[in-house]
Amino acid sequence: MDHKDKPATIAAHAAGAIDPQSGGVVPALQPSTTFLRDEGYNLVRPDNLYSRPDSDNLRQAEEVIRRLEGAEETMLFPSGMAATAAVLQTLPNAAHVVVQAGIYYGTTAWVREFCTRRGLTLSEVPAEDLVAHCRAHRADLVHIETPSNPWLKSVDIAAVKAATGGILVVDATAATPILTRALDFGADIVMHSATKAINGHSDVLAGVLSTRDASSPVWKTIRNDRKMAGAILGPFEAWLLTRAMRTLPLRVERMSWNAQRLAEFLLAHDQVADVFYPGLPHHAGHAIAQKQMTGGFGSLMSVLVKGDRERALAVTGKLRLFLSATSLGSVESLVEHRHTIEPHTGIPENLIRVSVGIEDIDDLTADWAQALA
Ligand code: PLP
Repeated sequence: MDHKDKPATIAAHAAGAIDPQSGGVVPALQPSTTFLRDEGYNLVRPDNLYSRPDSDNLRQAEEVIRRLEGAEETMLFPSGMAATAAVLQTLPNAAHVVVQAGIYYGTTAWVREFCTRRGLTLSEVPAEDLVAHCRAHRADLVHIETPSNPWLKSVDIAAVKAATGGILVVDATAATPILTRALDFGADIVMHSATKAINGHSDVLAGVLSTRDASSPVWKTIRNDRKMAGAILGPFEAWLLTRAMRTLPLRVERMSWNAQRLAEFLLAHDQVADVFYPGLPHHAGHAIAQKQMTGGFGSLMSVLVKGDRERALAVTGKLRLFLSATSLGSVESLVEHRHTIEPHTGIPENLIRVSVGIEDIDDLTADWAQALA
């Protein structure tokens, strides 16, 4: 594998992962938790002692993501939340944390609880105010999400990096490493819920962190904690991820293409009040998204249907191809009535979050047409 290979090539070849033992062109799944020593008590493979620190399958999946991100080092975790927690847990007591407001609610809820418990100062700052806030206030860590879930706000990664002296963590789940390489824009650490598009088949829970500077104190602590405290992804999940990522660029391209068409269709529909999607010119974050996203604007959008909660629920109930289920970034389209999940956060009752899959766009638009009729 040439290190100048493009993302589609890196992904299709799983960054060169094969099975040297059998000659298989796909890597073997190795579930062993413990590894042999020879007569001299030397490990048969010096890097394989016990599977808590890592495993061949984990390293293979990490190498694909590392290459896609242009990172120095990548680490997988058992969920997106475990990855986010791994970063925040490195902070000293009394640290000041800035977290973008209105992001994935699971992150907000945990960060609030964690900061209270640990005595950290937390500022929740709207996407639009992040740069000014970071210029005016010292922070140890700034956590942003772009595009955000479910508001689809875009945040200028480079501008936030220039405004803060703190560690900048970017949750780029909705963008994927295919559309945005957050490290190139100045993120110190980029995080993804690999449960979403990176895996893309709704059958693996995983999270991932990548960095430009594997020798930074924070990264070393994260690495040490993962190794010693064991927040590790199992080999089967890692193997499935490697398999799924072979088609990641293709899936993201198709999902983004479908999403752009669906967003345009819905915005023009007389039963729709608004559509939040970074690929729409009227969207507030469109200019930033154009700068930061290459090859499309992702598969996530939110739709405000005309009417109230009952109308929104009636529409989700009538959709046939958009399955009513949480999560995003998979090959099958999903919808979620987000207010049902987070009723106290100001989510409009007529908002339907949409994750667009790889189905035929004509079928997808026809499904919405019948559900809105
Ligand atoms: N970040 C974003 C943007 C998400 O949408 C999610 C899950 O929905 C997470 C993080 C958490 O990831 P996981 O469910 O893999 O823990």
